[in-house]
Amino acid sequence: MKVAAVLVIALTSLVAVSQQCPRIINRAGWGARAANTAVLPNRPAPWVVMHHTAGAHCTTDAACAQQMRNIQNFHMNTNGWADIGYNWCIGENGAAYEGRGWGRQGAHAPGYNDRSMGLCVMGTFTNAIPNAAARNAAQSLIACGVSQGHIASNYWLIGHRQATATACPGNAFFNEIRNWPRFNPNV
Ligand SMILES: [Zn+2]
Repeated sequence: MKVAAVLVIALTSLVAVSQQCPRIINRAGWGARAANTAVLPNRPAPWVVMHHTAGAHCTTDAACAQQMRNIQNFHMNTNGWADIGYNWCIGENGAAYEGRGWGRQGAHAPGYNDRSMGLCVMGTFTNAIPNAAARNAAQSLIACGVSQGHIASNYWLIGHRQATATACPGNAFFNEIRNWPRFNPNV
């Protein structure tokens, strides 16, 4: 009985830890091109900057992986950047896609790139918020980053429009994240 009880406690704590992270698709999983980007100098990241892509929504693994490749190609070929600009992107399939990832400096928000994780949700959220799968994945990814030491526990969340003149992450989604933990209205 004692061994069983210990096992139950161990399994329960394992589940509790893994539940903080959403389903993650790494770069190989979406077919990322190789890239060489700078290490994020301020770690754990004290800021999280939320974006939308202002592009197509995706609700399947195949469509979301294609969106990631499209965004990376646009950022590298058209913008001339070293890699996809975001650290992470979320699909309405409920998965989190590794962009530059936890430890690298993104290209997404002037003044915050060297001190933040740039998260995007794939889609246009001017008039409607991301679906529940994407909202849950985004919040889980932030909690996951905090639990793994990539995001500071006292981080601040902002929308891209608070960093520069842009509509990103869309009116509807910006109003939504104002209610999320650690949102900072005073920047
Ligand atoms: Zn943005």
